[in-house]
Amino acid sequence: MLKRRHFHIVKIESCVLCIAQEEETIDHLIFNCPFSQTCWAKIGISYNSSISRIEATIRAKEIYSGKLFFEIFTITAWYIWKERNNFIFNQISPTYNAWLERTKADLTWLRYRVSPDLSDYTTSFVNNL
Ligand SMILES: [Zn+2]
Repeated sequence: MLKRRHFHIVKIESCVLCIAQEEETIDHLIFNCPFSQTCWAKIGISYNSSISRIEATIRAKEIYSGKLFFEIFTITAWYIWKERNNFIFNQISPTYNAWLERTKADLTWLRYRVSPDLSDYTTSFVNNL
């Protein structure tokens, strides 16, 4: 969309999260980028990007050992996206630590959005990150 609007802040077709500057596609940015892979590894979600996105997500859920897969999956992806946007729009370099702190902060709030029997699990999950 930025390309269509002639918004040339950076070489926008390249991923801003990695040194390799791979082409920025959804699959690269969220799943295949070394930056993103570090994030997924920290969360404990294994994602096979050689198959379709839907199938990879279903498989990731099947092998994920924790609870609240989709909530944690969504928050993880969202903050990878936010790190990217923080660079594009605010020229703030993406860092793993910034991603982790923002993700942990949002996961902390998840405690209040889940059923009471999962709130302790959520707190424990965040504390172990
Ligand atoms: Zn990348």
